[in-house]
Amino acid sequence: MITSKTPVGDLKMIGPSYQIKLKKLGINTVEDLLYHIPFRYEDYSLVSPIGRLQEGETATIFAEIMKFENIYTKSSKKIQKIVVADGSGRILLIFFNQAYLNGILRPGLRVTVAGTVSKYIMDLAFLQPHYEINKGDSELLHTGRIVPIYPETEGLTSKWLRSRIAVILHKLKIDFPELLPTEILKKYHLLSLHQAINSIHFPQSLTIAGHSRHRLSFNELIVIQLASLIRKREIETNSTAKNMKDHQNKIEKFIQNLPFTLTSAQNKAVGEILTDMTGSKPMNRLLLGDVGSGKTIVALIAFYFTFLNGFKSLFMAPTEILASQHYQTLLKFLKSLGMNISLITGNLKPNNSEISKTDVYIGTHALLNLKLPKEKIALIVIDEQQRFGVEQRALLRLKGSNPHLLSLTATPIPRTVALTLYADLDLSVIDEMPPGRLKVKTFVVAPEKRQAAYVWINKQLTSPSSKQQAFIICPLIEESESLLSVKSAKKEFYRLQKEVFPYLKLGLIHGRLKSSEKNQIIDLFKEGQLDILVATPVVEVGLDIPRATIIMIEASERFGLSQLHQLRGRVGRRNQQSYCLLFSQTDNQNSLDRLKFMEKYHIGIQLAEYDLKIRGPGQFFGYQQHGSLGLKFTDFSDLSLIKNSQQAALDILRVDPFLEKLPLLREKVIPYTIQNIAPD
Ligand code: ADP
Ligand code: MG
Repeated sequence: MITSKTPVGDLKMIGPSYQIKLKKLGINTVEDLLYHIPFRYEDYSLVSPIGRLQEGETATIFAEIMKFENIYTKSSKKIQKIVVADGSGRILLIFFNQAYLNGILRPGLRVTVAGTVSKYIMDLAFLQPHYEINKGDSELLHTGRIVPIYPETEGLTSKWLRSRIAVILHKLKIDFPELLPTEILKKYHLLSLHQAINSIHFPQSLTIAGHSRHRLSFNELIVIQLASLIRKREIETNSTAKNMKDHQNKIEKFIQNLPFTLTSAQNKAVGEILTDMTGSKPMNRLLLGDVGSGKTIVALIAFYFTFLNGFKSLFMAPTEILASQHYQTLLKFLKSLGMNISLITGNLKPNNSEISKTDVYIGTHALLNLKLPKEKIALIVIDEQQRFGVEQRALLRLKGSNPHLLSLTATPIPRTVALTLYADLDLSVIDEMPPGRLKVKTFVVAPEKRQAAYVWINKQLTSPSSKQQAFIICPLIEESESLLSVKSAKKEFYRLQKEVFPYLKLGLIHGRLKSSEKNQIIDLFKEGQLDILVATPVVEVGLDIPRATIIMIEASERFGLSQLHQLRGRVGRRNQQSYCLLFSQTDNQNSLDRLKFMEKYHIGIQLAEYDLKIRGPGQFFGYQQHGSLGLKFTDFSDLSLIKNSQQAALDILRVDPFLEKLPLLREKVIPYTIQNIAPD
C-alpha cells in the first residue's frame, strides 16, 4: 500500500533518474513531494470560444488541430506554427525550436490550450502556450484551471511535478490524518490538513490556495511553539542556577578599560544578561543583533563575570575559523585578567591539565565530544546559533550542570516574531551600530563597467595612503560546496591573478580546503600579506578582517538579500568607508530592481522583509530564506498567524500537557524537547 511515508522511488511513475533529481530538492518520500508546494499559480480557469479571444487576454480554449507546419527562419531556427479551431474561429499556436512537437500535435487531435493571447506577425496567436491533448474525460491539469507553478531544478519541470502530484492526490488518494484537534480547527478557522494539501496544489480559487498555505504555516509554527513551550517547562522545573554575585566594581572597571565605549544597546544587553545570571533560575537568552553590531564583546563580559564567580564558560562557534578568531579576541581582552583560554577543534585538543586550568573553552562542535568538568561550567554561549540544530544546542547544554545559556544570532527576524517563535527564550536586542560606522557604499555594477571596476579596485588597494584589502566572492553555484563551485573559484582566482591584478597578491579560500590551510590563508589575509581574498560564497560568517574595505560579489542575483547583507557585513567593520560591488549575470529588470534595494538599505531586517515580500517565503533560491529556522511556508509578515499559532499551542497544552491525546502531533514535537534529545 502506498502511504505518505512511501519512498518516491517506489512509485512506478518515478524512474531512477527522476528520483535523483527529486533528492536534490530534498524530496525522498511521497509526503516530501506533496509538501513541495507551488510558489505561485497561473489562473487559466477562464474558458473562452476562440472567436471571442482578444489580444492580452489569458484564457483556455478547447480546439481541434487543423494544420502543423515547421517554418525555417533566416537564422536557420525552426518555428512550429499550428492552426487550431473550434466552431467560433481559429488561432495560431507558435512554438520555437520544438520540432519534436510534429509527432505530438497532429492534425485531427483535440487539444486544450492555455496562455495569454498575443500576435504572430498579423494573426492572433498563443506563443509557447501550455497544452494538453484531450483523451476521453481525463482531468485537465495544465490548462482550464488554476495551475500550480513549482520551484524547479534542472530537468524537473512544473508540468512533470504537476502530473505526478495529481496522480498521488487524485488516483492513489493518500490520506493525511489530521494533527490538530477539531476544536482548534474550529476556533482558528483552519482547513483540515487533508483539504489543505489537496487544494494547495489544485485550488478551486486563489482564496482557497491562500487558506491552504495558512493551514500549512499553522502546522509548521505550532510544532515549534509546542516544542518551545515544553522546553521552557522542562527548564523551569527543578533546575536551580549556580549562585553568582554581581561584582559590580570589577565589571564596571572592565567596561571602562575597553578600547571603545559600549553602545547603549550593548549596555542594556549586558545588564539583562548579568541580572539573569545573578538570579536563581538558569538564564536562557537570545541576543539578536545585526551583523557587526558587536555581540562578541557582550558575551566576553559574561565570560569575565563567570570567571569572577569562580566558574568556567564554554563558547561554541560554527566554524574553526570563527572559533580561532574568537580565541584571539578572548586572549586579547581576558588573558591579562588572569583568565586561561583554550581552543578546541577537530584536531586540536588540550591535555587534561590544561583542561582543568581553563576558564573559557572555545571551539567548534568538537566541544561536544570532549570530557569537561561539567560541575564547574556555569555559562554556555553559542555564536551564530542559527547554524546549529536544536539537537546540538540541547547537547551542548549538557556540558554544564544547569548552566546559563546565551545564544547569539544575526538572523534578521523582527522582535515580535522572535518573541513568539522562541517562547522558551528571553530576548535582548542590539538595535544600534557602534558609533562612527559608515554605511557600506553599495553599487549594482553594469557588465560594461567591469573593467573600470577592476581598475578602481586596483587603485584603491595600491593607494599609498591607506592599506586596504578586498574580498571577491565567486558565483553561488549550488548550496553546498560542490566540486563544481570549487573548480570555478579556482579558475576565477587564476584569471584574476594573471590577467587582472598581476601586481597584487591574491589568495583563494573554499570549503574543500583543510582547516589548517584555511586558517593559514585567513592569517595571511589578516596580517595584510594578501591584498585580495578570492572566496566561494561560503565565506565564513562572522569573519572580522579590520582592513578589508571592498567586497565584490559575482552573480549576486543568485543570493537572497539577507545573504548579500551577511556577505556585505565582512567589510565596513571599522570606521573606514567601505564598498560593496554587486555584479550580476542577468538583465531581468525585476532581479536588478531587487539588487538595487541593497544600494538603499543597510539594515538586515528591512532587507529580509523586502525579500520575503517579493520572492515569497516558499521560493526556492539556492538557500532557503528561513532555512535556518526550518520554516518552509511561513510568512513572517503575517503576525496574526504567528500569534494565533502560539495561542493554539497554549490552548492545547492546557488540556493535554503531554500531548497524550494527540499522538501524531506528539511525534512531531517530541524530537525537539530536551528530555528526548538529552535524557538524564
Ligand atoms: P557581530 O555582532 O557581527 O558578532 P562583532 O562582535 O564581531 O560583531 O563586532 C564587530 C567589530 O566591532 C569588532 O571588531 C568589535 O571589536 C567592534 N566593536 C564592538 N562594539 C563596539 C563599540 N561599542 N564601539 C566600537 N567598536 C565596537
Ligand atoms: Mg559575530
